[in-house]
Amino acid sequence: MTAFTASVCLFCGARAGHDPRLAEIARETGAMLARENWRLVYGAGDVGLMGAVAQATQAAGGQTFGVIPQHLMRREVARRDLSTLVVTETMHERKKVMFTNSDAIVVLPGGAGTLDEFFEVLTWAQIGLHRKPVFLLDVQGFWQPLLALIDHVVEQGFAEPSLRSLFTAASDIPTLAQVLRSQLATS
Ligand code: AMP
Repeated sequence: MTAFTASVCLFCGARAGHDPRLAEIARETGAMLARENWRLVYGAGDVGLMGAVAQATQAAGGQTFGVIPQHLMRREVARRDLSTLVVTETMHERKKVMFTNSDAIVVLPGGAGTLDEFFEVLTWAQIGLHRKPVFLLDVQGFWQPLLALIDHVVEQGFAEPSLRSLFTAASDIPTLAQVLRSQLATS
C-alpha cells in the first residue's frame, strides 16, 4: 500500500437511495480516491453509499480511516478491516475526529445526517473556523434543491452572497478530482 498524499472526508448516505446509479457513483468516487493516493476518511459503516465508497477504495488498494460511535457499530455495520478504525463515544466526537483528520470534505448524496455534516463544515467556514475545501458532488442534479435553498437564504438576506463561494459543486467525478487536485496543491 503506497503512502497517501492527502485525506479526503466523505459525507454520504447510510442508505443507498432509490436510484442504483448513485451506488455506482459512490463506488467510482471510492476508486478515484485510491487512484489519486488520497485516504478516505468516513463514517466507518458498511451500509448504503458509505459502504459502497469504502468497499471501492479498499478494492482499489487505497487507505481508509473510519470513525464511528460505539452505539452505531451494529446499526451501521462498522468495518473492522479498515486501515484505521476509531470508535468514539458520541456523534459530535465522530464529526470532530473526521474533520481534524481531513484536508478536504466531499459530500455525496445522502439524508439528514449528510445534511447535518455538510452544514456543520459550511457554517464553520462561514465564521472563519477553517478553510478546508468543501465539495458537493451534484450528480444527477441531486443537490439542486439544496443549492436553490442556499440561494434563497442569500436572496432573503439571511447570509452573505459569499456563502456560495465557501463550497464547490461538481457535477461529475472527473471534475471533482480535478478541482480537488488543484485545491489540495494550494492548501
Ligand atoms: P444519512 O445521510 O442520514 O444517511 O446519515 C449519514 C451518516 O451521518 C450516518 O453515518 C449517520 O450516522 C451520520 N450522522 C447523522 N447525524 C449525525 C450527527 N449529528 N453527527 C454525526 N454524524 C451523524
